[in-house]
Amino acid sequence: MLNKGCSEEELFTFFSQKKREDMDYNYILSSMCTIPHPVAVRAHCMFMETNLGDPGLFLGTASLEKLLIMRLGTLFHLPEAGGYATTGGTESNIQALRLAQVSKKEITYPNVVVPESAHFSFRKACDLLCLEMRTVPLGKDFRMDTGEAAEQIDKNTVCLVGIAGSTEYGMVDPIADLAKIADSHDVFFHVDAAFGGLVLPFLNHSKPFDFSLPGVTTIAVDPHKMGMSTIPAGCLLTRRPDMLNSLNIETPYLSVKQEYTLAGTRPGAPVVGALAVLDYLGVQGMRAIIAGCMKNTERLIAGMEIFGFPRAVTPDVNVATFTCREVPEPWKVSWTRHGHLRIVCMPHVHLDRIEAFLKDIGEMHA
Ligand SMILES: *Cc1c(COP(=O)(O)O)cnc(C)c1O
Repeated sequence: MLNKGCSEEELFTFFSQKKREDMDYNYILSSMCTIPHPVAVRAHCMFMETNLGDPGLFLGTASLEKLLIMRLGTLFHLPEAGGYATTGGTESNIQALRLAQVSKKEITYPNVVVPESAHFSFRKACDLLCLEMRTVPLGKDFRMDTGEAAEQIDKNTVCLVGIAGSTEYGMVDPIADLAKIADSHDVFFHVDAAFGGLVLPFLNHSKPFDFSLPGVTTIAVDPHKMGMSTIPAGCLLTRRPDMLNSLNIETPYLSVKQEYTLAGTRPGAPVVGALAVLDYLGVQGMRAIIAGCMKNTERLIAGMEIFGFPRAVTPDVNVATFTCREVPEPWKVSWTRHGHLRIVCMPHVHLDRIEAFLKDIGEMHA
């Protein structure tokens, strides 16, 4: 640390320089995050100093968090769902598995059953909670094999996990079938809709993945991905409003006596940012944005196939994957564990960016 401090001017010149080393979103095709919506930025700035970890001091902000949960619950066909704002999918998934685990305390060696496509956060959650993670292979369509899932469940299983919009291939598992399986085995069913949770409700022909299915216990959804909020904004929703209380611990020095969240101090800013986007755009505005992202995904797939780069699979959400070895600079793409090129058509990836990318990759492989 500097002994004397430095001038603000000097400091921010240094920061600007560093910020220029960051990638320009114009070339980022690999991220599930995006440029936050201007109303999210405005709300974020307005609520900068709020701490949801001490809700008794920030009653207004805490009520906005409740409103966000109600908006998402309504979107997921259960307005009275419980829940809270997390730092993202990772925390939501950890907490969902914790809930499942405490619901069956009598089990000595608990396990959870997840698809092979599960996000790596489940690895972290299982490590932290000492849960055995059983992985179910995917079918040819990159969706969880339901027969295999049912096979893996035994008397020590506390949770079955399904993905609604997988990180790598953008696929939705057979959620309705999995919900029935979980129900018949009396285990929790957690739907990881971190990405798809703010895509699927706005599509015209999507299958149910939410609380409209009786077996679904909890849902993870990330407003800092397709919700265009500022980072960090995730949410965990629970079917029973009081379910989270099973995680309560005593909090001696706060305005509330108990807390079930994983984080202590929690920012209100991105939470209000998330609510701002949903309320500003409404269902119609969200539909328009999602329709644009899906259209761009289709255009990208069609364009790539003309160049001889076939899709790995036809995705359910705006994640496109291809058999393709190399892409030109300075485009930032990602690669799946099976070696497929992966591009996420986020809201900042406008049609002109797709066309520019197609032109560059076409020239490179000409
Ligand atoms: C992004 C993602 C996560 C992890 O979310 P973070 O916000 O990065 O913690 C979990 N599950 C799925 C399906 C995701 O796409």
